[in-house]
Amino acid sequence: MGTTLFLGSALAFSIVLLIVFFKKKRVKSIENTIFAFTAIVNLVALIIELTLQIIVLKTPISEFQTSGLIDYWARLYLVIMIMWFTIFTIYTVEISFTHNLKINTIIFSTIFVISSILAFSLPINKYNNGIIMYTYGPATDVLKAIGIISMLFWLICLFANFKEIKNKKYYPVIFITIFLLISSIIQIYRPEILLITVIGTLTTYIMYFTIENPDLRLINELNIAKDQADKANMAKTEFLSNMSHEIRTPLNAIMGFGSILMEHKDLSDEVKEDINNIISASDNLLEIVNGILDISKIEANKLEIIDSEYEPKQIFNDLVKMSEVKLDAMNKPIKFKYFFDETIPPVLYGDHGRVKQIILNLLTNAIKYTNKGWIEFKVSCINKSNVTRLIISVEDTGIGIKEDKINKLFNKFERLEVEKNTTVEGTGLGLAITKKLVELMNGKIVVQSKFGEGSKFSVSLDQRIVKDKEELEKTNVIELDNIEFNGKKVLVVDDNIVNLKVAGRLLEKYKVDITESSSGKDALEKIKSDKFDLILLDDMMPGMSGTETLIEMKKDKSFKTPVIALTANAINGMKEKYLSAGFDDYIPKPIDRLELEKKLEKFLGGN
Ligand code: ADP
Repeated sequence: MGTTLFLGSALAFSIVLLIVFFKKKRVKSIENTIFAFTAIVNLVALIIELTLQIIVLKTPISEFQTSGLIDYWARLYLVIMIMWFTIFTIYTVEISFTHNLKINTIIFSTIFVISSILAFSLPINKYNNGIIMYTYGPATDVLKAIGIISMLFWLICLFANFKEIKNKKYYPVIFITIFLLISSIIQIYRPEILLITVIGTLTTYIMYFTIENPDLRLINELNIAKDQADKANMAKTEFLSNMSHEIRTPLNAIMGFGSILMEHKDLSDEVKEDINNIISASDNLLEIVNGILDISKIEANKLEIIDSEYEPKQIFNDLVKMSEVKLDAMNKPIKFKYFFDETIPPVLYGDHGRVKQIILNLLTNAIKYTNKGWIEFKVSCINKSNVTRLIISVEDTGIGIKEDKINKLFNKFERLEVEKNTTVEGTGLGLAITKKLVELMNGKIVVQSKFGEGSKFSVSLDQRIVKDKEELEKTNVIELDNIEFNGKKVLVVDDNIVNLKVAGRLLEKYKVDITESSSGKDALEKIKSDKFDLILLDDMMPGMSGTETLIEMKKDKSFKTPVIALTANAINGMKEKYLSAGFDDYIPKPIDRLELEKKLEKFLGGN
């Protein structure tokens, strides 16, 4: 009677557990599936054991040995327990070794089927003295054998994953191994005390609390919150990108007219200096806009590294030239030292725009934060089969950085010693962007600095070596003086009147025949009635964008005029985007005079 009560309670617990498990939303996982099977099989085992007890109680002792029902029911119990061991072994193997549920199930199910047949066909002996009852003999031995083999299997799994033994997934395995050992010892002396099903129930409970079953409602809420945050972030990125576009448009006018004004012959030195200040302030503003755009793209994980072939020597030479111009403009008595390792392969594959941006940030900082002494720009490399590790360092004898401030250096908007550097312009974005870019390119950046003595920033970047390559198209800054393209017809398309004016005034110098158009539709009309040598086409236009206009233009197979995309959407990767959209080239706004000249020479040159 006591055993029946014991089993009854286990049954109640099992039912509660199953209700809780199936009522709660679950993640779909192998462990959850196995758990569901274990719990159900355990419940069935409890029901069979309980009914067996009741049947035995109702059967007169004289009929006990001959009762076919008891015989059948006892064998059924053996089979369901073998099934429980099988499923729990599959679970243990699954968390220990493989994640190949199908194969495991096939192997262990075969063992299960064979042992079940044996349990049903081998002789079974029963013992009942009216108070205690148990079975023994060959059929029962099959269950015992499966129990021992399973336990050995679990022990192997535990030892093989000894390091992971603290993983809570192993708790049920450890529990059942220990308790089965104890109950087996008890069984030897008191065969009537049957504990397996109760141990099974407890193990199932422990399993329930150890399988990963996150609260799906919470996950759902988190996902909604994440979606909202993502949307807000996207809105922010879009806003920044629009803002950058909007700021660029007036900047284009300021810089464009500034450079046009500078070309006037009869300017006094004072006026020239004022115009220079306007241009340099616009340059700074442009740098800030670019920085904000970069940081927002980085934060939205939208910054892409666009690799292509490039000549490193040319990139570094450009950087040296740019630094020297900056030093000259700032009138600082600083010696600029440059070392270029000639073993650097001539052609590399990587994002040269970003490589340039990283180094330019470091060089600009060195120039900004150094007042005397020298700046050393060094590029060396380690070549390894088809990869070269570029080791770039920029060292200065500038103001240096305090030790406790070094770790703040790469935080965005973080500027050090602001009180002392009030005259030095900056946003505190440069190094934050630099670090992110280096990381995006799987590189490393380190800083060594001594306050008051100087700093050294070192970057290492792996770039692929391009072998057997014909020389790439030279993109050196070529100084073109007084070039003219008499009579060449250029169509400029831009919805913004001021921008049209800027482009017109910038082009005037080259004696081209300019036609202005303020929409894609109008431009399409114009190319029908006139033949142009070059088209400068703004992309962001209301109604029909530049890209859409180009597609329309190209529908006419005889259309061969080169088209350059003109856009204030000047973020990195845009050039590639426009080239793949079918444009022949790309000029970012604000239009740079030299850039414009290069493109004119490329498409209208020869005269
Ligand atoms: P900023 O626009 O202010 O130059 P950065 O992110 O490029 O922003 O640099 C962050 C801060 O790190 C700077 O404000 C400056 O205090 C410090 N810093 C950067 N480079 C140097 C350097 N070469 N020498 C001394 N201080 C530097």
